[in-house]
Amino acid sequence: MSPRPVISRAGRRPRAVRAPAGAGGAPLPVVMEPPAPAFRLACRQLHPETSVVTAGGVAIGSGRLIVIAGPCSVESRRQIRDTARSVQAAGADMLRGGAYKPRTSPYEFQGLGTKALEWLAEARAESGLPIVTEVLSVEDVERVAECADLIQVGARNMQNYPLLRRLSTISKPVLLKRGASATIQEWLLAAEYLLAGGNPNVVLCERGIRTFETATRNTLDLAGVALVKELSHLPVIVDPSHGTGMRSLVGPASRAALAVGADGLLIEVHPHPDQAWCDGAQSLDVPSFAALMRDLRGREAVR
Ligand code: PEP
Ligand code: MN
Repeated sequence: MSPRPVISRAGRRPRAVRAPAGAGGAPLPVVMEPPAPAFRLACRQLHPETSVVTAGGVAIGSGRLIVIAGPCSVESRRQIRDTARSVQAAGADMLRGGAYKPRTSPYEFQGLGTKALEWLAEARAESGLPIVTEVLSVEDVERVAECADLIQVGARNMQNYPLLRRLSTISKPVLLKRGASATIQEWLLAAEYLLAGGNPNVVLCERGIRTFETATRNTLDLAGVALVKELSHLPVIVDPSHGTGMRSLVGPASRAALAVGADGLLIEVHPHPDQAWCDGAQSLDVPSFAALMRDLRGREAVR
């Protein structure tokens, strides 16, 4: 096996290991074992097996591509019900939908809160799809954890340490999105907060980072996904919707994510993307999502 890249020494020195004596008892050189990284619970070096995180009965990290689909935000009972039914029929594994929305402007739609959580729970009961939804603050953790099968921590909250600490004390799985300006080391150390506090059920999500490039909403760091798969045993999924910001790029980015070894995808789907209350430009309509699913499942079969 090729040596794993080491991106932090965690303030510890490499350990010197004496190699066994060579033929005739001749001393062999001392081999330097790479030190464990600072994210010692998240690292693959000390935990070689890929972790499988089970959320609402769906195993993430088992080798099968897990597809989470649904609107950016829950807008009405009918919208989330219809979407649930459609994405389930198209082969999605889980349903997403925001009840609490982190918006850049305070004047933008902030989510329907508890009402949206109730509708998500109804949509799960009808469709059988487990729910992925975001928690924004410590005081909402209990309420969101009651409804969600996988609790999303959004990019803006990746380094909200009180929130991570609180989520580390529950057993519900957490989907930890990468901050828009977070390094891989910072992302893995954020995951470490969850693991160190006692919650082993962590899934990472690459959703694009901020670079000089403005032609796409973010720059989807797919090499970073491949690297994180090397560095960590945690499952890693990719969000091609926020990662590109453009509907036409969601398919290509999804195929690329599959090719670099992502364990799953988080895709925004809306029954009427042009009328979506947020992120319509990056949302797929149902027929496009169904076509993408057929394509992905076909590729997966030959992966
Ligand atoms: C979202 O998933 O709708 C979202 C707000 O994502 P991010 O935190 O990656 O911006
Ligand atoms: Mn969105």
